[in-house]
Amino acid sequence: MAENDPTIEVDHDAYSDDYIKSILAEIRTIAMVGASPNWSRPSNFAMKYLQAKGYKVYPVNPGVAGTEILGERVYASLDELPETVDMVDIFRNSEAAGPITDAAVEHGAKVVWLQLGVRHDAAASRAEARGVRVVMDRCPKIEFSRLFGELSWHGFNSKVISSKRRAVGKASAPSGIAGANQGATKPKAGRTTRSPGFETRAIHAGAAPDPTTGARSTPIFQTTAFVFDDVDHAASLFNLQTFGNIYARLSNPTTSVLEERIASLEGGRGTTCTASGHSAQLVALLPLMEPGDRIIASTKLYGGSITQFGKTFKKFDWHCNFVDMDDLDALRQAAAEPRVKAIYAESLANPGGVITDIESLKEVASEIGVPLIIDNTMATPYLCQPFKHGADIIIHSTTKFLSGHGNAMGGAIVDSGAFDWFQNDKFPALSQPEPAYHGLTFFETFGDLAYTTYGHAVGLRDLGPTMAPMNAYLTIMGSETLGLRMQRHVENAQQVAEYLDGHPAVAWVSYAGLPGSPYHALAKKYLPKGAGSVFTFGVKGGFQAGVKCVETCELFSHLANIGDTRSLILHPASTTHRQLTDKQRTAAGAGDDVIRVSIGLETVEDIIADLEIALG
Ligand SMILES: *Cc1c(COP(=O)(O)O)cnc(C)c1O
Repeated sequence: MAENDPTIEVDHDAYSDDYIKSILAEIRTIAMVGASPNWSRPSNFAMKYLQAKGYKVYPVNPGVAGTEILGERVYASLDELPETVDMVDIFRNSEAAGPITDAAVEHGAKVVWLQLGVRHDAAASRAEARGVRVVMDRCPKIEFSRLFGELSWHGFNSKVISSKRRAVGKASAPSGIAGANQGATKPKAGRTTRSPGFETRAIHAGAAPDPTTGARSTPIFQTTAFVFDDVDHAASLFNLQTFGNIYARLSNPTTSVLEERIASLEGGRGTTCTASGHSAQLVALLPLMEPGDRIIASTKLYGGSITQFGKTFKKFDWHCNFVDMDDLDALRQAAAEPRVKAIYAESLANPGGVITDIESLKEVASEIGVPLIIDNTMATPYLCQPFKHGADIIIHSTTKFLSGHGNAMGGAIVDSGAFDWFQNDKFPALSQPEPAYHGLTFFETFGDLAYTTYGHAVGLRDLGPTMAPMNAYLTIMGSETLGLRMQRHVENAQQVAEYLDGHPAVAWVSYAGLPGSPYHALAKKYLPKGAGSVFTFGVKGGFQAGVKCVETCELFSHLANIGDTRSLILHPASTTHRQLTDKQRTAAGAGDDVIRVSIGLETVEDIIADLEIALG
């Protein structure tokens, strides 16, 4: 394989799956330098996991030499090991990793692996010059579970797409056990490795055939709990040392499929699904916020979000400054206040057809070292990819376009995996020892999976807004056609917006797909495939005319939802936005004359004919 050829340079910023997979499939013996006897330390986690997968692990730690860790004698140095090991796994800081890498090469190891957060490029080059393969800033436990078909758990994006049935009951072990080499170490003849496209991921990501039955459609795991193999297995699961299901409040295999699917579509590291979009917002903020902290949110948000942030979160002593995100000076001013922990906006704002300049918000978020959270509900990953523009966390109400058929509530929190939770002391829940897990530090142990792990292991466990498996199933079904549906949604919406724009009874149309919209240029940049299918227009005649129009429609359903196959219509001032003050209503784009439509997938001429009657 090309990457085993020492003359070909390995890209240490972006390892290919094949490179990592071939290493894990080949090695049998590991020396773990810096192995800790303390079970809540990451090295102890990794050692226990690797032992369970069939590797022989020798702990090396001069401080406790002669004692035992996890049943293995501890050695003071690599020189004392009873055999030459295949791989040296280094759990020390980057500075110490240099000399240990050199010692590992002298020892005769074929692979040197530096743990999450550990990197020493000079030592890596020296090792590679001697034909030794090097991996840096990765955890073998996480890579193994991702690449060797361990069932999706906690919604991590494995990036593996396969319609092959997996070995029953366990992750395929590296040594000759069934499935270990399925498409693994060598790309099959004539196949090039390419990244699967959006539509392929929408249908396949997260959803391999059921290992037990071969069922091709994802089963609905209608169960509240999962059996343990034995007491030790149970303890490992509770301690988060082993990935697996315990109790369905924390995770469920059906929901895990949806989580991985959404993570894949957004290009993120992992996803936590929740019972609704609003609970996603709550669970998303939990690891970021302490009492007295605040977020900065756009004034142009879904009405329910304004109420949740502005009123209900106050009961937790969480605060929110609402800012017009088109006004960067105002945003910078708000960001200068103490205890700001996140910036929050919608990519395509509900209901006004407003588009957020994600990149400039990211600049401000970076200046103060906090994550940028983007609600991508109305755009969906088909139309807008916030991570590509710097967002750190994405929120969805899957209730809307992701499920797409108006039949299942749900929410999702997607993590890009790129935010450095150690960069400042703002996020102790992720960067400090967690008392509820015996002093485990999430970011140290789980690296770029920390935020998503916290979402399940603390957010869902302690707050409890779990997505029902039936709703996960319905949303999985819906997500398979997301690309096709969104394509038709935006085609229909564009035609309807153009029709309304030319109608004498219509005062204005706020749709970023129209060339006259102040957001048209931003739409072209952030939503090049179309500006969504939810927008507002104003009827001449104010509040009464608005009510009349909504009540006259026959095909349009008058209700408070968006993102259905059916066309929907609403008068926000008398419904979704009625809790707000007049000023908030206008700022949110929901004044008296405003009508909001969510254009569905019916024949577009029928949609237009219905509006023709309503406006007449
Ligand atoms: C609907 C919606 C929410 C809330 O989601 P629920 O699933 O109704 O709890 C949040 N943000 C946006 C943009 C929405 O449209």
